[in-house]
Amino acid sequence: ASDAKPLDIDPSKLTIEKTTKPKELMKAEDLVFGQNFTDHMITIEWDITTGWKAPQIKPYQNLSLDPATCVFHYAFECFEGMKAYKDKAGKIRLFRPDKNMARFNTSAARIALPTFEPTALTELLAKFVQLESRFIPEKRGYSLYLRPTMIGTQKTLGVGAPGSALLYVIASPVGPYYPTGFKAISLEATDYAVRAWPGGVGDKKLGANYAPCIVPQREAMSRGFQQNLWLFGEEEFVTEVGTMNFFVALKNRETGQNELLTAPLDGTILNGVTRDSVLSLAREKLAPQGWKIEERKYTMKELDDAANEGRLIEAFGSGTAATVSPVRSISWKGKLVQCGLQDNEESGEITSLMKGWIEARQYGDEEHEWSMVC
Ligand code: PMP
Repeated sequence: ASDAKPLDIDPSKLTIEKTTKPKELMKAEDLVFGQNFTDHMITIEWDITTGWKAPQIKPYQNLSLDPATCVFHYAFECFEGMKAYKDKAGKIRLFRPDKNMARFNTSAARIALPTFEPTALTELLAKFVQLESRFIPEKRGYSLYLRPTMIGTQKTLGVGAPGSALLYVIASPVGPYYPTGFKAISLEATDYAVRAWPGGVGDKKLGANYAPCIVPQREAMSRGFQQNLWLFGEEEFVTEVGTMNFFVALKNRETGQNELLTAPLDGTILNGVTRDSVLSLAREKLAPQGWKIEERKYTMKELDDAANEGRLIEAFGSGTAATVSPVRSISWKGKLVQCGLQDNEESGEITSLMKGWIEARQYGDEEHEWSMVC
């Protein structure tokens, strides 16, 4: 009936069709990020009258979409990135899935795609990763990367809210970001292109935010830098690095106090789950040792001054892929701002501690509410 409330995602309606052609497992050492996928996928269709239909787990397969489908024309697409880990006892754990589900809903709502009950999709993810368990290596540093994705599927060139959508989840076994241990990266500060702006959508995980970042990234690489550092405005506020949040540890000029700094969630920064975890852990473990933990705007000039005055302790990026990524230097206005590492060092102390603290909770070495056993 037309007055019936559209349905939410209902995990109890899940149907599972298992593959008849299980894939051969890759050797863990040969895994390349995002290139191998598991046997199955989750799909959940939505339309505006019915709401969410019965969830399915089925063999990994191509989608078949009409060329007029709105995702191809107006970028009705958003996604998430999260990981499932195997602990020492062989149990599978999701790391803070509530955060990813909340962000997924915020992204979807911004581009007129449907939202859903967050715990319903988490429940399905838990079933899915159990089914794909054999793909998750039981080794520290390895995990199963999950890619929840939502697309508008209405067949129309009319610009409007999609009347139908597809939520799907694929999974890719991944190895450690730095197989031979940390490698500090060098950055190029990008001043000629802007990733996000006030009132924009840089704080949402929309596919449309990512394609325009590749050219500046490639430019930085062509000059020998691994990533670009996104600045904003005439003040040259430091925002994010590539697809990671950015942290700096420095000594305050006036007070001499150690500070861990990151840009605030003012709409131009992605609300990283790792960022939030770094901040929580810093407040828990570094603040009692006298550190000041700050979310505030800071400029490239401030970093340069700190470096010149010997007050820049270290810098790192944070994100699901690498957890934390130490930064050696930032190329800015024709000079190289050194971020506190000695030539023979690949990581600062805080960066290494953070990696250990976060991984302890991801892999369940430390029992914590951030880790959900599936
Ligand atoms: N910033 C951007 C632009 C990103 O794409 C990501 C990766 N999701 C992050 C930061 C880090 O977020 P998270 O810690 O949730 O992976």
